[in-house]
Amino acid sequence: MEKQKSGEPGSHIGIFHVDEIRFAQFNIPLPEGDELIGHHPEGRAWPPDGEEAKMVRYPFYVMEMPLFIQRLQGYAAGAGAEILFETEFTGLVLEKGQPAGIYARSGDEELTIKAPLVIDASGVDGVVRVSLPAGLGVETEPIDPQDFLYVILQYWDDLAEDFPRGLNFYPFHKAFINPGYGDGAIVGIGQPEKLEIASQVQEQFLKERFPEVKHRLVKKTWGRTPYRRPPFSLVADSFMVVGDAAFMTKPFSGEGVTSGFTACRIAVETADRALQKGDLSREQLWPLNVRYFRDQGAKFAGLMAQLLVAAELPRDDVSYLFSRDVVFSSYDLEQMNRYFEVKMGPGRLLKTAAALLGGRLGGKLSREGFAALLAAMKRAGALQKHYERFPESPADFPEWEAKARALWDEG
Ligand SMILES: Cc1cc2nc3c(=O)[nH]c(=O)nc-3n(C[C@H](O)[C@H](O)[C@H](O)COP(=O)(O)OP(=O)(O)OC[C@H]3O[C@@H](n4cnc5c(N)ncnc54)[C@H](O)[C@@H]3O)c2cc1C
Repeated sequence: MEKQKSGEPGSHIGIFHVDEIRFAQFNIPLPEGDELIGHHPEGRAWPPDGEEAKMVRYPFYVMEMPLFIQRLQGYAAGAGAEILFETEFTGLVLEKGQPAGIYARSGDEELTIKAPLVIDASGVDGVVRVSLPAGLGVETEPIDPQDFLYVILQYWDDLAEDFPRGLNFYPFHKAFINPGYGDGAIVGIGQPEKLEIASQVQEQFLKERFPEVKHRLVKKTWGRTPYRRPPFSLVADSFMVVGDAAFMTKPFSGEGVTSGFTACRIAVETADRALQKGDLSREQLWPLNVRYFRDQGAKFAGLMAQLLVAAELPRDDVSYLFSRDVVFSSYDLEQMNRYFEVKMGPGRLLKTAAALLGGRLGGKLSREGFAALLAAMKRAGALQKHYERFPESPADFPEWEAKARALWDEG
């Protein structure tokens, strides 16, 4: 069910990008024709100041989002799915206090659709999850507006030849410059807390980096992605939640298309088994929690803990880490994109420890930054391990959840 018209979903974003390796991983044919804007085998990550960018050898496809979504909807329709466009979810049908379908509006028509399983894939507002009754084992609070990443995209044309082209990431400002249409570029930013903050930081970033650049602003758009931990459980009796509705975006970039697919694939396999058994209880749907949180969820929890701190480091600290190839090295950035974690052998671990310690002793890394980084690394490790031990059975969930809350500092 989709509240927008056919062809509309994705149009508020326009151009977006997807890692090349995910097409094979999810069995999706590569984009072609108007859907394909470009293919970029590598990108660059820039320090807060200066021109010493790191190459990130990790290919992306740049694509037209509405056409990509239409293609996926075509695959679904071809496999027998019926998609109701311009149909808006308005409430849950409950039987004996449990989800049994949904109420919806389509034009003037009010619909009641009964279903053994309701899946919330409604994006950041998680409209179904927040209308669940309390006590089913899924958190029902709406996302706090401070927990969004506010993403602003400016489409620029008529640019000078020396303006950055291809994929460019500026981690200190959480800004990026990506390919637009033709020779144009998308100048973007993603900042938590408030849209106004994102706008101010983008202005500041452009003033610092590109004060005199002549350009024509073709279009300016913005959107929200979640920037917080997922709900501790993704399932209840006859209910699942996936994608942005379950806060599954990559913590280091805010991208969420293929990280959502990870959960969708597990959800499909889990739902299929449960439907065949004719048992849609929380117990039967529990494998979505176990398989998601023990793998991608665990890695994202670790990254989130680390990046929440790294993103707040003072400018000089970030410059130092860049210069010493710690956190912001080509290796770290490639590994993070590919595996969602940075594998460290004893040699790299020693090098990182030496750079951190050397930076502190030499006064290049602030006392606060050093302490915060060490604490974040410890917490990230503990969180990842805890998620990797997500309980096999719902009976052990309350104890696991209590410890997870403590690790997230939620008391
Ligand atoms: C500006 C911007 C740029 C981005 N760029 C990238 C990128 O380059 N690469 C990337 O991977 N990710 C990117 N993202 C993130 C990405 O868009 C999301 O992670 C992804 O779209 C999440 O998919 P989803 O299906 O979970 O939710 P959505 O894409 O939000 O889809 C949810 C759908 O549910 C529908 N819906 C909502 N409420 C109702 C209702 N009551 N009834 C019926 N239907 C409803 C909506 O109309 C919508 O179509 C970007 C995000 C923004 C804001």
